[in-house]
Amino acid sequence: MENFSGKEFKLGILGGGQLGRMMIREAIKFNISTSVLDPNPAAPCAEIASEFVVGDFRDYESVLKFGRGMNVVTIEIEDVSVEALKVLQSEGVKVFPDPKVIELIQDKGTQKQFYRLHGIPTSEFQLVEDFQEDTWPLPFVQKMRRGGYDGRGVQVLRSASDFSKKLPGPSLLERLVDIEKEISVIVARNESGETVAYPTVELDFHPVANLVEFLICPADISKDLEQEAEDLAMRLAQELNLVGILAVEMFIDKSGNILVNEIAPRTHNSGHQSIEGNLTSQFEQQLRAVCGMPLGSTAIVQPSVMLNLLGDANSEGEAVYEGLEETLRIPGVYPHLYGKKDTKAFRKMGHVTVLNPDLKQALGYARQIKSTLKVVGRQD
Ligand code: ADP
Repeated sequence: MENFSGKEFKLGILGGGQLGRMMIREAIKFNISTSVLDPNPAAPCAEIASEFVVGDFRDYESVLKFGRGMNVVTIEIEDVSVEALKVLQSEGVKVFPDPKVIELIQDKGTQKQFYRLHGIPTSEFQLVEDFQEDTWPLPFVQKMRRGGYDGRGVQVLRSASDFSKKLPGPSLLERLVDIEKEISVIVARNESGETVAYPTVELDFHPVANLVEFLICPADISKDLEQEAEDLAMRLAQELNLVGILAVEMFIDKSGNILVNEIAPRTHNSGHQSIEGNLTSQFEQQLRAVCGMPLGSTAIVQPSVMLNLLGDANSEGEAVYEGLEETLRIPGVYPHLYGKKDTKAFRKMGHVTVLNPDLKQALGYARQIKSTLKVVGRQD
C-alpha cells in the first residue's frame, strides 16, 4: 500500500462541487492532502481543499498543468478533458477512473453500445444524427448524447405535438420503459480487483424537476431482484476494469425485468445516504479505491431515507435556509449544506438523511422535512 498520508502525497480532484466537498471531508480523516481544479472560485470545495486551483477541468492545458504535480487524479464530474488525462497517465500519474472509461461514459450513445456488446440488459435504442416523426414509434425518449445532466437533455416524446420540444444535436432514442421502480447500486473496485457493492437503493423522482426527491435504503424489492441488480453492477465494474466508484442506475419494469439506464464512474447522488447509513460512505470508499487501500464494509447501519434539498422553484438569489431549526429536532436527522452562495430553481443546495430502525418512520420524517425545510433566495 502506497503511503498516501501527509503532504508528500497529493490527490487531485477534477471538479469542486458538492461531491468533491464530501470526499474532502473523508480525506481529512485520512490526512490526505487534496488539490481541486474548478473554474468557479466560490465552488463548494474552495474553502476546504488543501489547495484550490481556479481553472477549467474541460480544458486540456489546465488539466495537464494541474495533474502534473499529483500522485493520483480522480474526478467528481465526468465532463473533463480526457485527452489531458491520457497524457498524464502516460507520464506516470495514476488516473482513476481510467480516462477510457470516462470517455465511454461521456457519450450516452457509446454507453448504450457498451451494454449491447457485453450483453447487459438495457432498453431498446437507436443512435441518430437527427430524427423525424416516422423514425421511431411513439412514445419514446430522446437523450442528448453529450452534456445532459440531472434530467436536462432528456425529453419524453409521447405525441406528434411533442416534436416541438425536440432537442438539437446527435441523440439517443430509447424505448419508453414502463417503470415500476428506479433503483441504483453503487460498486467500488480497487486496483487489485477487490470489488464491493452497496445494498440497492430505491429512487423516488420529483415529477417536475426530474431530480431524485427521496432515496430509500434498502430498496423494497425481492431478494432475487436485489441479487440480480448487484450482479449486474459488479459485472459492469469488472468489464470496465474500473478503479473507483461506479454508480449503476437501473429500471425495474412492470414485468419485473431489470434494465440498466445509465452509469457514472464516480460518487453519485444515489449514494448520499451512505455517509451515515452505511458502515463506509461512498466518499471514503472512493478514496480507499483510488489510493490503493482495502475497501470498507458496505453494510447498512440503519435503514435511511435521503432527501435532496433543491432550490425553491420560484425564487433565486442568496441562499436562505428556512425551517432548519424544526428539522434539527427530528431524531436521527443529518443535514448537509453544500455551501453554495446562491440558489435558483431546483438547484441542488444540500441534502438531508434520516436514519431510523423503522424505514416507514424515516420516510415519514423525510416527508415532514420536505414540507418544512426550504431553500429560498434573498433578493437585495
Ligand atoms: P440524466 O443523466 O439527466 O439523469 P437519465 O438518462 O438518467 O438522465 O434520465 C433521467 C430520468 O428520465 C430517469 O431517471 C427516468 O426517470 C427517465 N427516463 C430515462 N430514460 C427512460 C426510458 N427509456 N424510459 C422511461 N423513462 C426514462
